Amino acid sequence: MTPTLITETKPEDWTYISEGGATIVFSYRGPHNVQFSDRVLRLRKVAQGSSDNTLLNTNSEQPDDPMIAFQENIISKLIPSEFLPSLVMVVLDEDWLRSLVILRDGDRPAERRQTDQIDVRRTKGVLATDLIGSMPIAMEIKPKWGFLPTEYHLSPETVALKTGTCRFCMHTSFRMEQGAVGTTYCPLDLFSSDETRVRKALGALWAGWYESNGSLNNLRFFVQGRMTKPDDDHSVQLLAHFFTADGSTDVQNLRQSFTSVLAQALLDSPVLSLLSTLQRTLDVLDVEGLSKLYTQTLPDLPYNGLGSLVPDPSMEEWKDFVKIYHSDYHSWNHTVPSPRHLRHYLMAYLLSATFKDCSIIIWPKSTQVGSFDVTIIDMDIKSMDRLGKWERLDRKIVEHYKSSGSQRRCIDSQRVTQLGCTPMCYCSLASNVAYRYI
Ligand SMILES: [Zn+2]
Repeated sequence: MTPTLITETKPEDWTYISEGGATIVFSYRGPHNVQFSDRVLRLRKVAQGSSDNTLLNTNSEQPDDPMIAFQENIISKLIPSEFLPSLVMVVLDEDWLRSLVILRDGDRPAERRQTDQIDVRRTKGVLATDLIGSMPIAMEIKPKWGFLPTEYHLSPETVALKTGTCRFCMHTSFRMEQGAVGTTYCPLDLFSSDETRVRKALGALWAGWYESNGSLNNLRFFVQGRMTKPDDDHSVQLLAHFFTADGSTDVQNLRQSFTSVLAQALLDSPVLSLLSTLQRTLDVLDVEGLSKLYTQTLPDLPYNGLGSLVPDPSMEEWKDFVKIYHSDYHSWNHTVPSPRHLRHYLMAYLLSATFKDCSIIIWPKSTQVGSFDVTIIDMDIKSMDRLGKWERLDRKIVEHYKSSGSQRRCIDSQRVTQLGCTPMCYCSLASNVAYRYI
């Protein structure tokens, strides 16, 4: 198959949409072209002044962006393709990328420009379905952790906190102490499948968006392909026309219409149940249990943090893991995890992290209010060297929360409805939710 070349377009044909920690996204606005129309270009970033040359040798063949193979071979076996964007590889060009930087770097937030930049020496990028630029309006929600851990592997010091308050709420409290903007959003409300609670979560996301002037990343609005801030009157007017019958830009009115329209869209979609089930069944030991299993299994290794010295899985190993997840995994006794399953538990945790970190795009099927599609994006492969950092962060967050003296009560509706079933009985959950779509 002939590869798609980015040089078939001009840098001016692409406009800046948004960016995360590792990638930056542009939307195609050039003349009609079957390969590029209704597509976004996803490029990798590098830290400013990065001296990492491992991937920068342009004379040698660079691998395809792993996101494509990961989605094709792994994610699509866990999430039906109707909820995924299509991804294809595009061949990049250094001069073309440098021109794009000159043209569009000014559109990026100043704080992002200070820390990183487009990796102009990459020779391959990703073209994905454009769910934002080709729509009059689209919303992005980063739902985060949708479950509470079971108590089996938690220490006496953490069990009460971790089974009472969700990880996101504890993390928010920690971040607020560091000076970050706060939010009252609790993911367990969004994942609850209960209309009142879903509306409450959406109301909190709206308030966070409004009060932080769009700087929190758990909710983003895109109007005519551009990220919208609450102080942009013209875009807010377009939002009001979309969500309210009378086009009223009254904030309370708009918030109420937004929460009821979106709640219905999310309740009608299986996407959130699917994500929550994947997150909880893959993170079955909690990072504490994983850490215990790791030190018990490898007592002779110098302990440089969880997962240190463990090589990243190959794509073949990931494929094998997904087969195991669909078969034996659910019959393992996760209460007493076997040391011979350590590598699979580490991989399961990495995969769970992918689903904890992804976003969903909610976009209208037509201009008619109330008819939406939900697509899951940003499912990047995570590597073993992140585990040690996550373990330390977990400890820090819980210690902080304990010392703060607060205890917010977060309700995990999937665990509540499982009363009468053993808490570790995930098989029924998985078969009810995940397998139904596979
Ligand atoms: Zn919570």
